[in-house]
Amino acid sequence: SSIRHDAPVLLIGLGRFGAAAAAELDLLGREVLAVDSSAALVQEWADQVTHTVQADATQLDALRQIGAEEFQIAIVAVGSQIEASVLITANLVELGVAQIWSKAVSPSHGKILSRIGAHHVIYPEAEAGERIARLVSGRMLDFIQFDDDFVLVKMHAPRAICGKTLTDSGVRTVHKVTVVGIKRPGEPFTHATEETVVHEGDIIVVSGGEADVQKFASLDD
Ligand code: ADP
Repeated sequence: SSIRHDAPVLLIGLGRFGAAAAAELDLLGREVLAVDSSAALVQEWADQVTHTVQADATQLDALRQIGAEEFQIAIVAVGSQIEASVLITANLVELGVAQIWSKAVSPSHGKILSRIGAHHVIYPEAEAGERIARLVSGRMLDFIQFDDDFVLVKMHAPRAICGKTLTDSGVRTVHKVTVVGIKRPGEPFTHATEETVVHEGDIIVVSGGEADVQKFASLDD
């Protein structure tokens, strides 16, 4: 889309999620207007976020007064009060904000947010829960999921492929995954080739379908 990647962000709700998002946007050098109905929270964050204002974002007029329609990007970080989250999102849709990211606490909440026009629905608690489950139940050190199935995973090299080139261990042919890069302790990261030999203790970055990568990550189990 035509939204600048440095466009100012309107953030509603300075709870734990919203405050963390506001602080990180600030670190990234983005201009943020953070809104909360709690005067105490607004005061608490006033020094750390570029602009903070106390307002009830369920009121369309209050949003108009703070210039909400000037923003192209908004984050609705109100979760537990579902009615407020829905009303605020609807208000931002009405004001024509081009990119609205709304936090949901449940699938049905998320469905309502999508239906009323939120462009992105985020489930921070469900996502963090899934993430921690995957990280504790394997040798994965980090992962990113793209679309539904494709993943990119950082992991300790499974012993089953150590001491051989990537071709000889059948990483592609047998395991159906691609080793993208490799890092030996104390050495810089390098891109992997078919001739790359993996050693025990190496950290590798692997891409592929989620099920294949999961299986590959638990080869030694
Ligand atoms: P978290 O779980 O991340 O702490 P909460 O949903 O508990 O998130 O917090 C939401 C924040 O949104 C609270 O700080 C609350 O004061 C604020 N908030 C709730 N309703 C409104 C509203 N109508 N307008 C502006 N801020 C609101």
